[in-house]
Amino acid sequence: MIGLEQNRRDELAAALAGLRDRITTACATAGRDPAQVRLLPVTKTFPARDVALLVDLGLVDAAEARDGEAVAKVAEVTALRPAAALRWHMVGRVQRNKCPSVARWAAQVQSVDSARLVEALHRAARSATEAGQRQDTLGILVQASLDGDPARGGCPLAELEALADRVAAASPQLRLDGVMGVAPLGIDPGAAFAKLGVAAQRLRRSHPGAVELSAGMSGDLEQAVAHGSTCVRVGTALLGDRPLTSR
Ligand SMILES: *Cc1c(COP(=O)(O)O)cnc(C)c1O
Repeated sequence: MIGLEQNRRDELAAALAGLRDRITTACATAGRDPAQVRLLPVTKTFPARDVALLVDLGLVDAAEARDGEAVAKVAEVTALRPAAALRWHMVGRVQRNKCPSVARWAAQVQSVDSARLVEALHRAARSATEAGQRQDTLGILVQASLDGDPARGGCPLAELEALADRVAAASPQLRLDGVMGVAPLGIDPGAAFAKLGVAAQRLRRSHPGAVELSAGMSGDLEQAVAHGSTCVRVGTALLGDRPLTSR
């Protein structure tokens, strides 16, 4: 391994250890088992080389926020680490015309916030399966809007249950895995995650398999873990600062 790559690997290993500490401490505070909280690296804007190093460090999941960037990166990471069985997650807004592509690379889409998107992913997953381009069911998280402004993405909390019903009805191509949320800017993340946690619990009554709650990012993962997060999506705290042009 060349020197620069070794440096980057050490940097990522240290950041990873720090994050595992944060998750362990947050779980201890909340009286939860750290094994219930998955760390999902969000690798958008970072190169395939970084994802390959994360694979070497034992991570088995990665998330992207844009289809075009993901398609190229998935191919590059596959070439760099052909034996790795990485699971890719889509966490950004999905345009319906991108669904056929997303259904070819994603194991799970976390950002599903409308019935029209459910229908498009359903069709896309079926076509990809028929064409031999996917082997397994496409996991789905329904994304809740926590700021009452659906323009920023997410389904209004009052409509979350109906959206989840639609995902469940699209079995076996789609599988309802749970709920995702992003804390709005300028609002106490704890209050937002409390609302999200209640919604996720309510959903589990009618959909017992919807056990995942994807909440918390670099800056607010502790508050999310306190309110039941099972998946923290971490970009900057693991990989460093992104260029300002990305969201
Ligand atoms: C970029 C992104 C993240 C990671 O954000 P950080 O603050 O860098 O940890 C998490 N979730 C979504 C949906 C994102 O787009």
